[in-house]
Amino acid sequence: LPYGRVWNFSAGPSVLPVSVLEEVQRDLLNYKGTGMSVMEMSHRSKTYDDIIEGAEATLRRVLKVPDNYAVIFLQGGGTGGFAASYLNLFACKAVRDKQRKLGRQLSCDYLVTGSWSKGGLKEAQRLGGRPNVVLDGVRATKTGAVSYHSLPPVSEWKLGKPEETAFVYYCENETIHGVETPSSLVVDAVDPSVPVICDMSSNMLSRPVDIKRFGAIIAGAQKNMGPAGVSLVIVRKDLLERDEAGVEAVRSIPSVLDWLYYASAGSMPHTPPTFAIYVCSLVFKWAEEQGLEALERLRQARSGLVYDMIDAHPEFYRGPVDRYYRSRMNVVFNLPTKELEAQFIAEAAKRSMIQLKGHRSVGGVRISLYNAMPLEGAQVFVEFMKEFYEANRL
Ligand code: PLP
Repeated sequence: LPYGRVWNFSAGPSVLPVSVLEEVQRDLLNYKGTGMSVMEMSHRSKTYDDIIEGAEATLRRVLKVPDNYAVIFLQGGGTGGFAASYLNLFACKAVRDKQRKLGRQLSCDYLVTGSWSKGGLKEAQRLGGRPNVVLDGVRATKTGAVSYHSLPPVSEWKLGKPEETAFVYYCENETIHGVETPSSLVVDAVDPSVPVICDMSSNMLSRPVDIKRFGAIIAGAQKNMGPAGVSLVIVRKDLLERDEAGVEAVRSIPSVLDWLYYASAGSMPHTPPTFAIYVCSLVFKWAEEQGLEALERLRQARSGLVYDMIDAHPEFYRGPVDRYYRSRMNVVFNLPTKELEAQFIAEAAKRSMIQLKGHRSVGGVRISLYNAMPLEGAQVFVEFMKEFYEANRL
C-alpha cells in the first residue's frame, strides 16, 4: 500500500480516499497561493467562503438535494443530532399547529434497530419527551446472543396516529450491530404528512438517496464524508419555520443545536470546523467524480465478498444479521470461540489489516467497508478469511 498505509477497517473515524489526502498534503502549508493553511485561515475570508459554499454546492449536486432543503454543517457529532432533531422538530410551526389542534403534546415515533437509534430515543426521553417505540429489534440471535439482527415485519410496527405524531425517527445503518434498514421500507410505511428524520451517519454518500422523502437527515462526517469534527444536516425548509410560540420554545434550544441559527447564516453564525469542512469538500468532489451509483455498486461488491464467505462457511463465520438487513458498510460476525476471534484479529493485524474488533458492547469481529475502501481491501480480507478457515476449521 502507498505511504506504508494499512488496510484500515475502522468503524470510524475511518479511511479517506488517498487522492484526497494527497491534495490536502499538497495544499497543507500554502493553500492555493494564500500563503497559509486552510487551518490558519479566517472563516470570514473570501477564500474560505468559496470553500464552504463550494462544499455545499457540490454536495447538493451529488445528492440531488432539492431547493426546498437547507444544507447545514455544524458541530456536535452524530450525537448532537439526536437532541437537535427532537428540539428543532418540536419548535417548528407545523408541529406546533398540529399540537394545538390536538390539544395536547404530540408524541414522536422511534424505530429502535440498534444502539444508535436507541441513543436517539434516550435523548428524546432525556429532554422530557414521551417518545413512542415503534419497534425494538432486540432479540436472541442465531448465535444465541441477545442483540439486534433484524426488524419485525411492517405489519407489527406500532406507528403512532399521524395526527398525534410530530415525526418518525430511525437510524439507517446501525454501525455497531451491522443492521441496515432500507429507506423505502420506512418512508413507505409512514404517513406522508409525518416527517421522517434519519440518522445516516454511517452510510451517507454510499448510494443515491431520495431526499424529498425525508424531513431531515443527520450525519456525522467521520465515516464516509471526512474527518471527525463536523456533522451534516439536510432539513426541509418548512420544518425550520416558527411562529411566535415556536420562537418561545426555541429559547430552550441552545444556539449550537438550533438548525435555523445555522441555516440563516450559511453554516457560519460562529466559527465552523473550517478544516474538517474543507476536507469534506474534497471528498464530495471525489464522490461526484465516482458517482453515487458507482459507489453503491462498490459497496454491494465489497460487502458481498465478505458475506459470500460467511455464507460459504456459516458454522465457522457466524453472521447474526438477517440477510435482508445486512449492512453494506459494517459487516459483523462471530467465530466459534472467543479465542479464535482473538487469534483471527491478531493474525489479520500481522498482514496490515487493522481495527477488526467488534464494538466493545457486542464483541466478535466487525469489518467496516466505507466509501474510500477500494474493492481490493475486501479481496485481501476475504483471501485471509479463506486461509484462516482452512487452517482452523473445526
Ligand atoms: N449515529 C451513528 C449511526 C453512528 O455510527 C455514530 C457513531 O459511530 C453516532 C451516531 C454518534 O456519532 P458521534 O460519535 O459523532 O457523536
